[in-house]
Amino acid sequence: MTYRTLSDVDLSGKRVLIRVDLNVPLDGTRVTDDTRIRRILPTVEAVIAAGGKPILLAHFGRPKGKRVPEMSLSVVIGALSSAAGRTVIFADDCIGDAAAHAVEALETGEILLLENTRYHAGEEKNDSEFAKALAANGDVFVNDAFSAAHRAHASTVGIAEYLPAVAGPGMAAELSALEKALSVPERPVVAVVGGAKVSTKLDLIGNLLDKVDAVVIGGGMANTFLAAQGISVGKSLCEHDMLDTAREIMGRAEAAQCELILPIDVVVAEAFAAQAPNKTVPARECPDDMMILDAGPDSVAAIIARFKASKTLVWNGPLGAFEIEPFDFATNAAAKAAADLTAAGALLSVAGGGDTVAALNASGSGERFSYVSTAGGAFLEWLEGKTLPGVAVLES
Ligand code: AMP
Repeated sequence: MTYRTLSDVDLSGKRVLIRVDLNVPLDGTRVTDDTRIRRILPTVEAVIAAGGKPILLAHFGRPKGKRVPEMSLSVVIGALSSAAGRTVIFADDCIGDAAAHAVEALETGEILLLENTRYHAGEEKNDSEFAKALAANGDVFVNDAFSAAHRAHASTVGIAEYLPAVAGPGMAAELSALEKALSVPERPVVAVVGGAKVSTKLDLIGNLLDKVDAVVIGGGMANTFLAAQGISVGKSLCEHDMLDTAREIMGRAEAAQCELILPIDVVVAEAFAAQAPNKTVPARECPDDMMILDAGPDSVAAIIARFKASKTLVWNGPLGAFEIEPFDFATNAAAKAAADLTAAGALLSVAGGGDTVAALNASGSGERFSYVSTAGGAFLEWLEGKTLPGVAVLES
């Protein structure tokens, strides 16, 4: 896929509307993690260096087309200004006179932040009049919010009808990492698909079967696959209504010559609780009154062996109930092995999805992966093989 980037447009003296992701976590009105803010700075600096005036467009929370004061983007002004070391001007609307006056008054080197796009119902409806009103404040549109690219909204898709549209450096880096992992990967490719339920990851597994050489199934969803083979899983989380689906997936994997790797041994516990009494048993021997909460050491060894035999790894979802000790063992051990192989130059590792990022961060290995996508829904839809509308409008 080829898409236009900042270097394809002349930004000198231009008003540059940059779609960013500013959904930062808050404690009251205090920004508790400014990762997302720091991620947009290279883009803002590149625009300023090229002589452009950066005007930030973003949504914040889900105000559903109404002005909800608690969801005002004004809450990030301080954190943005101190991270950027620049003056941040705020306009209390993203369209109309308030925005137009602020754009007009913007001095070189300043950053203009426009109010929450979702205060207008036209945003989520991708309304063309609203998109046109957004576009009126810029000469160029830069989309740097991969995390919002799976939604066809006015500030991600509609606006591109009215302005030259290019990918920002953050978007371009994300797309390049994802392409290396799945579109044009070095083989063999192994995928890890974990998490709670098969039902939420059907499309994802379906797409992966045709693209990768092996899929490690982990977490609660592995229980459903074990049950589909007639294995008793006791009190484990298991979708008993998905057994036929799991069998169908196993059949498709065989036809596609994609190996499905299921746990050989498991850690079973009496309850879903930290330090609950537990033991390791063969996957076929889960006691009736216990539940599987993690993959066992033999399973982890098999997963690591598979990583060692692969050149590319795509990871979504934990291998066990990683939030509660000691059931974070398999996720942590496999993540560390992947990070070590990556550091040694033997593996390209790409991971993403909300819980996955949390799990990899908790394991301390995430930062040594080749790329960790913080985009939840967009990353999953991309893994499912879907065209992301916010990316499609940037294609050249
Ligand atoms: P997901 O949102 O589908 O990626 O699922 C992540 C959740 O799955 C986490 O909250 C884990 O605690 C949970 N999970 C993983 N393995 C198990 C398991 N064996 N039993 C119950 N929950 C699990």
